[in-house]
Amino acid sequence: MDHLKQLIREIPDWPKPGILFYDITTLMKDAKGLAEVINGLKAGVIPEDIDVVLGIEARGYFFAPTVAHALGKGFVPVRKPKKLPWQIESVEYALEYGTDTLEIHRDAVQPGERVLIVDDVLATGGTAAAVAKLVEKLGGKVAGFAFVIELDFLNGREKLNGYPIRSLVHY
Ligand code: AMP
Repeated sequence: MDHLKQLIREIPDWPKPGILFYDITTLMKDAKGLAEVINGLKAGVIPEDIDVVLGIEARGYFFAPTVAHALGKGFVPVRKPKKLPWQIESVEYALEYGTDTLEIHRDAVQPGERVLIVDDVLATGGTAAAVAKLVEKLGGKVAGFAFVIELDFLNGREKLNGYPIRSLVHY
C-alpha cells in the first residue's frame, strides 16, 4: 500500500528537532485513502477470531472504532491518566525521558476475550507493548496489532512478542 505515502504529509523536526513526523490528517481527509486504510486494517482479520477492538488515545481513536464497526465488533478505549470514570487498571512504560502511564477500565476486557489493538504508528513499540500488558493484566488475549504506519528502522515489532502485526505502510 505504498501509494498511500503520497497522502501522508512528512513534517521534519516536529514536535522536536530530529523527528520526522508522519501526519495522517491528510490521508484521513482523502475519501479513497481513508476507505483503503480502514479496509486494510481489517483485512486478514477473521471476525470470529476477535471479540473487541481496542484503540490507543489519541490517534488510535481516528481508526479503531471504524475498524471495530466494519468487523461487527465493539470498541474499547485505552486512555491517558485520570480520564476514565470507573475502576481502572494502569500500566507505566518508559519514554525516551521519564515514563508515561495508560489506563483502561477494569471491566472493558473480560478474561479470555481476544483483542485486536489498533494505532496509527508503530515507532519504538513502547506504547503498543504497554497496551498488550494492560490487556493481559485483565486476563485478555492479544489477537494482534494493526497499524497504519510502521517505522521499520526502530524495530518496534521486537517488543511485541511475536504477536501478529499488520502495518499498511512501512518507512
Ligand atoms: P512508540 O511508543 O515509540 O511506538 O510510539 C507510539 C506513538 O507515538 C504512536 O502511536 C504515534 O502516535 C507516535 N509517533 C511516534 N513516532 C512518530 C512519527 N515519526 N510520526 C508520527 N507519530 C509518531
